[in-house]
Amino acid sequence: FWLPMGMLAAALMIGVVVWLSRRRLSLAGELAIAVRRREFVVHYQPIIDLQSGRCVGAEALVRWIRPGGKTLRPDLFISIAEENGLMTRITEEVFRLVIRDMEDLLAEDRGMHISVNLSASDLKDGKALRVLQCMLAGTAIDARQIWLEATERGFMDVDKARGIIEQAREQGHAVAIDDFGTGYSSLSYLQRLPLDTLKIDKSFVDTIGTDSATHKVTDHIIDMAKSLNLLTVAEGIERQEQADHLKARNVDFGQGWLYGKPMPVPEFILYYRRNVAATQPPRRLPDAAA
Ligand code: C2E
Ligand code: MG
Ligand code: MG
Ligand code: MG
Repeated sequence: FWLPMGMLAAALMIGVVVWLSRRRLSLAGELAIAVRRREFVVHYQPIIDLQSGRCVGAEALVRWIRPGGKTLRPDLFISIAEENGLMTRITEEVFRLVIRDMEDLLAEDRGMHISVNLSASDLKDGKALRVLQCMLAGTAIDARQIWLEATERGFMDVDKARGIIEQAREQGHAVAIDDFGTGYSSLSYLQRLPLDTLKIDKSFVDTIGTDSATHKVTDHIIDMAKSLNLLTVAEGIERQEQADHLKARNVDFGQGWLYGKPMPVPEFILYYRRNVAATQPPRRLPDAAA
């Protein structure tokens, strides 16, 4: 009796694995078409100066609107795009959309910053950066208004990463390490990269106000970033208590549902106007790349 049961379980498991890999394959095929059909949109999540409450810009986050209208979040398709060599084209499409939107955003405020995510595959060589430079050349947009984010995974090869970050900064972009604390970063590694900004991962922000031991790690990350002269952004702020703690610890910026979810550009512009009417400008807007 147990033998057939074991075989049945094994067969079921194989079935699930096959189904999952088929789904990834078919998604990969659809992704290639999606790029050509321009099925991607970018939503903007407000980034707030924690001391003043003023919105200083936004993070651009890509979404895939499938035929039929269903929206797919990036964690479901970025890795598939990377594995299938489609990431370059998606990144270029995100650049195109952000540059198009920035004409309107900078009309609101010339000082606004938009953060764009680069994937690990965009950091293998400087091609994505060169493309961005070419795309900006035909516009009135100052490269300093575009900040770039990449995760630790993108910075695995420290020497290569350093070259890419230097190139980005030469082009005028500030560079942030994203999801900090979730990868393999060490202090020595961080010291060797000419970064501007450190984004504290949501998983650390989540521990603020709980009695878990990790909330102390959050404070250590903040102190470490300060001692390396990095600007700090806390991501995934959902509760006022978290915002208060981060503000008291002099974290520069914050993002999260407490302030606003990612939204289409017209909605973000309305959000921005309401925010500006209700807040004072920050005493000094740190410009990292300057
Ligand atoms: P990320 O860069 O760390 O972006 C923050 C993610 O956290 C976003 O998810 C955002 O919607 C979510 N988030 C922000 N505040 C809160 C909050 O208070 N609570 C909760 N529960 N979530 C919050 P999203 O948009 O699904 O993006 C996931 C990841 O996909 C991003 O993480 C980024 O690594 C990647 N990604 C997004 N857009 C792009 C892109 O254009 N290019 C590349 N290469 N990667 C992208
Ligand atoms: Mg990011
Ligand atoms: Mg992040
Ligand atoms: Mg994250």
